[in-house]
Amino acid sequence: MSRIAYVNGRYLPHRLARVHVEDRGFQFADAVYEVIAIRRGAFVDEDRHLARLTRSRGVLALAAPMSEAALKLVIRETVRRNRVGDGIVYLQLSRGAAPRDFAFPAHTRPSLVITVRHMRIADPRLVAEGIAVITVPDQRWKRPDVKSVSLLPNVLAKQRAKEAGAYEAWQIDAQGNVSEGTSSNAWIVSAADEVITRQADTSILKGVTRMAVFDILARKGLRLVERPFSVAEAMAAREAMLTSATNGVLPVVRIDGAPVGDGRPGPLALSLAAAYRAFMDGEA
Ligand code: PMP
Repeated sequence: MSRIAYVNGRYLPHRLARVHVEDRGFQFADAVYEVIAIRRGAFVDEDRHLARLTRSRGVLALAAPMSEAALKLVIRETVRRNRVGDGIVYLQLSRGAAPRDFAFPAHTRPSLVITVRHMRIADPRLVAEGIAVITVPDQRWKRPDVKSVSLLPNVLAKQRAKEAGAYEAWQIDAQGNVSEGTSSNAWIVSAADEVITRQADTSILKGVTRMAVFDILARKGLRLVERPFSVAEAMAAREAMLTSATNGVLPVVRIDGAPVGDGRPGPLALSLAAAYRAFMDGEA
């Protein structure tokens, strides 16, 4: 089945889908994006993702390409044309194409691109086995709370993880604390049964899956603590895990080659992964 991409009002064969060479997303990373999981044809936490898109574009003073109701229709039409049951929808909104100049152009229309692809969401094999992370210095700009396409530090860190045989890289701030993964939020579980993740200030992306897990923790009566944690604390933690829209909840079993706990997925991470899967299936 051939893929279809939405580009500025048109549904195009994926291989022909293009933006202009002077698109500001291409030239300056002057663009924001979202990734929403599709589970059995339904969108997981769509409203929270679209609210975050609105927030991200607001920080960059990017105009809305259309109303949210219209955007939802276009997303649905793009997914329908791609016949994807389980997968992701990717939305990218840039300031549009204009003669190259750092300052905002006076007249330009935003570019909106939407692509859809099949993907195994919250892969059960990864949940069962757990994944390894490495640590790298956090070299990003100071506003990772904005979901911008300026992702070069994330790209380089993920490549290092891949070369090390790890699944994700945890980025470490100047104080030696874990900020977050390259495309996921980072968590640990303390000996006192506290579930710890960094507070969502400007230093991390406020993950939608993170918020969904907050809801699950509240329902289960588990203790959540939002604070930074160091690499040493993570290595000594009883459990570790990561969250993202594509991964759901994944147990982290190794950090820089050292086992977390007994080196196997922890019971709390596994139960949160199962609860998140049930939540996704409920959306569908
Ligand atoms: N942090 C970063 C840097 C990310 O790119 C992502 C993925 N969007 C996340 C955290 C997790 O966010 P979400 O749960 O909304 O996918």
